[in-house]
Amino acid sequence: MARTQTQRKTAVRCADCQSIFTAEIEADGDVFLIGLGDRCDCGGTEFSRFA
Ligand SMILES: [Zn+2]
Repeated sequence: MARTQTQRKTAVRCADCQSIFTAEIEADGDVFLIGLGDRCDCGGTEFSRFA
């Protein structure tokens, strides 16, 4: 599991189930949910970022 040096923690919301997660944003824009990985418990992989 490659990690970059430019991760930053933010809050995201799953587009499918509306759950809120703490996540890290990779340099390339990928979302990595803390404790879950790259997908939600519901299987969703689309997330909306909070400002
Ligand atoms: Zn979800």
